[in-house]
Amino acid sequence: MSQKVETREFQTEIKQLLDIVINSLYTEKDIFLRELISNAADATEKLRYLTLSGDEVADKELPLEIEIETDAEAHTLTISDNGIGMTREDLIANLGTIAHSGSKEFISQLAQTSRESKESSVGETALSLIGQFGVGFYSAFMVAEKVTLTTRSYRTEDESYTWTSDGSGSYTLEKGEATGGRGTKIVLSLKPDAYKYAEPNNINEIIKQYSSFVSFPVKVNGEKANTVEAIWVKNPSEISDQEYEEFYKYLANAFDEPYYKLHFSSDAPLDIKALLFVPKENFESFGFSRMERGVNLFCKKVLIQEKSEAIVPEWARFIRGVIDSEELPLNISRETLQDSALVTKLNRVVTGRFLKFLDEQAKNNPEKYREFWEKFGSFLKEGAATDVLHKDALVKLLRFESNMTKDKELISLEQYVERMQEEQKGIYYVSGYNRESIESGPYLEIFKDKGIEVLYVYETIDDYVLNSLPEFQGKKIVAAEQDSEDLPEGVEQKESEEEIPQDEVDGLLTWFKETLGNRVTEVRVSKRLVESPAVVLSSFGTNSMVRMMQLMNKDQGGTPPGILEINSRHPVMKGIYDLQKNNDPFAAAAAEQVLENAQIAAGLLVDPRGMVNRLNNILERAVSHK
Ligand code: ADP
Ligand code: MG
Repeated sequence: MSQKVETREFQTEIKQLLDIVINSLYTEKDIFLRELISNAADATEKLRYLTLSGDEVADKELPLEIEIETDAEAHTLTISDNGIGMTREDLIANLGTIAHSGSKEFISQLAQTSRESKESSVGETALSLIGQFGVGFYSAFMVAEKVTLTTRSYRTEDESYTWTSDGSGSYTLEKGEATGGRGTKIVLSLKPDAYKYAEPNNINEIIKQYSSFVSFPVKVNGEKANTVEAIWVKNPSEISDQEYEEFYKYLANAFDEPYYKLHFSSDAPLDIKALLFVPKENFESFGFSRMERGVNLFCKKVLIQEKSEAIVPEWARFIRGVIDSEELPLNISRETLQDSALVTKLNRVVTGRFLKFLDEQAKNNPEKYREFWEKFGSFLKEGAATDVLHKDALVKLLRFESNMTKDKELISLEQYVERMQEEQKGIYYVSGYNRESIESGPYLEIFKDKGIEVLYVYETIDDYVLNSLPEFQGKKIVAAEQDSEDLPEGVEQKESEEEIPQDEVDGLLTWFKETLGNRVTEVRVSKRLVESPAVVLSSFGTNSMVRMMQLMNKDQGGTPPGILEINSRHPVMKGIYDLQKNNDPFAAAAAEQVLENAQIAAGLLVDPRGMVNRLNNILERAVSHK
């Protein structure tokens, strides 16, 4: 036993994590058991897979089960599995470092929350997510003052190793006996305030709550404590709501119930059993890092791939669930899954079915769908913009506010088309920062005037999606801010006393163009304005896209030229006309200001430096003229 004991430092992020786990979390401690059982089950699942695909494994005869032993006298809790175990290199890589950048981000977020709030309830909610960030193992230190882990890899020639730590910055590694059985055994020496975890009743309770669906027997002091059931292959009528909920919690490491549930099976075109869930919250929107895919792929109840990237599209990464298909060959290599035509087909069928489900939900319970949309709509938009295969179905699920929706009401493109006016040429939308800015801007005037519905969009991705859709149900989709033949025109004009003589208007337009030079591509009379003196129309993208381009090439400066449409009946125009007739140089300043006002109303970036001087001149004149 005179083996060399080696002491190694934890990576900085792990030290930070351990500090939080040990010092600032007092509730929700039960989850440590869920994490350790889930690791044991993962390791066992991997071993089962290796055996099935014909690999040579040590100790073939060992049963695939997880054993938990409690010792109330010694105050220890021991969790053992006969899974794949770890080599020395595995130990160092898996239980000493964090490679995943998302997990590092999670830890620094957690560190910040726990610094900010002494009552760490926020941190605790966050901690219940620990398993989703690939650092679940460390939750053991919530209850243990010392963790002793002994492990031996499934590879026949490997020896066993013992890893120990008290969670304070370092761990030790020591070579064990060569005869130790395959798998991993973790002994937790409990902290005094965690002695209750050496009581079998408490352990059974926690297993019932979090781990009842582990796909291997979990035994507590020799007695089976879970049900071991692949509920997704059962008939939905045999499954209670509570079972679904428990399964979801187990599957998604969640602490709340799912928002939507879809359980279906089909024989044609493919044999599929699927159980999919939509969570209640969108953690990406809380600023956590990008979610990982959350659907596991099974064949006849054997896990083929966890969090499979092949089985659902990237935009669908918020879905949690299980897909089982008998058609998958058991020995399909995980690497070739991505390229398998069968998997692609499965992906298409399941995603299509899920989208149809959402569409039904939206029709049957719009209120509930609206809440879903508010949280997860960004994923569907991402899909509509990137997933060619499912674009049509995704577009049907998009929701918008419009000049005709009230309160929190949202409409779909289908509803829009249903209530379009007969002579209306297209589906119109206008973008802006929010409802107020759109409604006070110039683009809406013609639509208000004519009682035409126009969709409001607030995010560049909306623009992007709508822009990429030439039409919907045969109706063109038209941005109100872009130059287009298909915009409504011909507002009702009030007779105004002080109008620019009709035959002078052309001259005024020419003067405008000369004055503004290459800051505009064209100046013309608007048929769309009521209240505003002028509006700019972009000829190569919606305003928010132009703004994005401006933000990207900051130094290039300048506002890209667009078409300036002027409202020739507006008093400002009459004023400019008079000034310009009298060769007053002030006319040019006013024209420039008209353009920049229109650009600002369009949400474009306008260099304020020249404007302030000009506005001061205009002000000076205005106040002295009263
Ligand atoms: P995650 O399980 O999300 O990867 P954990 O912090 O829970 O993150 O575990 C880290 C890694 O340690 C696992 O990915 C696995 O490689 C290894 N590991 C943990 N427990 C076991 C075990 N019982 N058997 C084999 N490997 C394990
Ligand atoms: Mg884990």
